[in-house]
Amino acid sequence: MNAHRVWAEIDLDAVTNNLAVIRRRAGPPTRIMFVVKADAYGHGAVALAHHALRCGIAALGVGSSAEALELRASGVRAPILVLGTIIDDEMDECLRNDVQMALHSSDRRAKLQELARALGMRAKLHLNIDTGMGRLGVLPHRALELLRELRASPHLELAGVMTHVSSADGANSASTHEQQRLFEGVLRGAREERLLQGWIHMANSAALFTDLRPRYDTVRPGISAYGVMPCHMPGSDLLRPAMSLRSQIVFLKDIPAGYAVGYGSTWRAPRATRIATLPVGYNDGVPWRLGNKGEVLVRGRRAPIVGRVSMDYTTIDVGHVPGAQVGDVVTLVGRDGPENISAEEVAEQAGTIAYEVTCHVGKRVKRVYVGGVDVELAPAPPGALPRTTSTRSDELHEAH
Ligand SMILES: *Cc1c(COP(=O)(O)O)cnc(C)c1O
Repeated sequence: MNAHRVWAEIDLDAVTNNLAVIRRRAGPPTRIMFVVKADAYGHGAVALAHHALRCGIAALGVGSSAEALELRASGVRAPILVLGTIIDDEMDECLRNDVQMALHSSDRRAKLQELARALGMRAKLHLNIDTGMGRLGVLPHRALELLRELRASPHLELAGVMTHVSSADGANSASTHEQQRLFEGVLRGAREERLLQGWIHMANSAALFTDLRPRYDTVRPGISAYGVMPCHMPGSDLLRPAMSLRSQIVFLKDIPAGYAVGYGSTWRAPRATRIATLPVGYNDGVPWRLGNKGEVLVRGRRAPIVGRVSMDYTTIDVGHVPGAQVGDVVTLVGRDGPENISAEEVAEQAGTIAYEVTCHVGKRVKRVYVGGVDVELAPAPPGALPRTTSTRSDELHEAH
């Protein structure tokens, strides 16, 4: 009945809803640069990108040139920005495929200018200013110098100025206020010298849902668009999780009291019970740490994971689930009847963050897309979209 051993059901209507919620929070003149790095946090970047473009988002953010090229190859013509940093070997492909890059140093600026000149093109760059993340980006006191260098580089074009928020509490934290103060300082200086051009962006999901003001003209939501939140925030209850991770029972076995289950015999049945085996393991994204700890849903009830999670299999105790049988759908993340297991709950149980739960859903897990009728968000504001952008892709690619 169920065609797959394990599958991730991706509800595109939930993504539509979440983008609409984000757009309302961001305010009308704001563009959405939808972050689809890490294969759209495990949801499938190609399918999600095309769906979100149909919903009216302006641009896509990715983590590497390979991710950008995958989207280009699928027919995405909208702006794509490699958010972090590229390595030297990625420059050429980015330029040839009109992929925008974040710029962090004078050194890289010189290399890009040289390469763009050789190719006879103009590279579109977003200056990344490090206002407190401490990872990538140029420090604020060097930003204007880099902007001047950019202006003097005929083969480079400033497409935006950005910074990245480090606090998981978003705009509510003192550190975010300090980051914004530093960012504002650079923007002011750049305006005075007429160096400012392109999009201005700072807000990730946490910042968006904790009222970062001003939000500038572009926001960069990732996890909230998938309906997951780093922590509970006001307004985030309007989001709907897009991903459910499901498998099915492939084997049932009645074991006597005292019988051990799984590697290391870490669990022994306290009483005679029935063990169900699921063909899904840590390679598919079930955190190993859920062994003897996590729960799944069968027939609308919670059932505990017993024994260690192995690479390909997970064992659960279904002694208390009447009628459980081979072929029953098992929900590892998502809703089944009255019960729900969120990615946030799994993360909590496994001692990790919700981001990792969806990102780790493995390669052999089939993505099954549901919903996704062509619903558009509020129309994009006039002038919000660059000329080269196609926000409506008529060929929504089936991604499986
Ligand atoms: C990943 C990322 C985002 C999105 O962050 P979320 O917390 O998922 O909303 C935004 N900006 C940059 C630079 C990122 O790397």
